[in-house]
Amino acid sequence: MRQGFYKLTGVVLKRHETSEGDIRLYNLFRDFGPQWILAPGAARGRRRFGGATEPLIWGHFSCYKSPKQLYLRDIEVKEDHWNIRSNPDKLERAMIWANLLTKYLLPLQPCNEVMAVFYDSLCLLEGDIDESMIEWRFLYRWMKKWGLAPELIRCASCGKEVTTAYWDGDVVFCEECRSNKDELIIPKEELREMVFAFALPRESLVRWIQRVELRANYVVYNRKLRDILRLSLA
Ligand SMILES: [Zn+2]
Repeated sequence: MRQGFYKLTGVVLKRHETSEGDIRLYNLFRDFGPQWILAPGAARGRRRFGGATEPLIWGHFSCYKSPKQLYLRDIEVKEDHWNIRSNPDKLERAMIWANLLTKYLLPLQPCNEVMAVFYDSLCLLEGDIDESMIEWRFLYRWMKKWGLAPELIRCASCGKEVTTAYWDGDVVFCEECRSNKDELIIPKEELREMVFAFALPRESLVRWIQRVELRANYVVYNRKLRDILRLSLA
């Protein structure tokens, strides 16, 4: 980024107040990736931004880039996800996702595709949908963009369509190719549901979810995905 004025679109992932009364935000910006942005004196009242510096706030951030720092000048809030921030369980879930992004996205590297996945998941989290399933969608979509998500439809060994799936480490096998007895076995109906959960566009998912009873154990599957993330990106 060159020195000068910018209007950046992004979301607050993390907020930190310094002992000097500054606010430091770690934002995910479209086209510019994650980075720190400083609002000098903002916590002491020299320049107030109200609630606009809270995590999960999406908006246009007017900034000045000096040779060393990015300074915040103004925020135009576009989406505050109030339904999430006013619900402790939803907020906790969303902050787990924001923390994963903080941890795994490379600073200053644009990642608009993951930003879109995050936005989609937060919009779904605002509604009355199973949170573990939304987390599955969030993690799977993100990891698929990065080539880390296990292929669920075709066997990693023979390439045939899997019916009952045997999930072993970061790959999924069919009945014939399964390698050992420690795999996670996913029955056909669950597998189908898990594919729908990540593949359907948001509006279709909202309609679909009203007609089905979720069976898949997303808590377990999400743990598997997070393990893959950790092992791949550590
Ligand atoms: Zn196979």
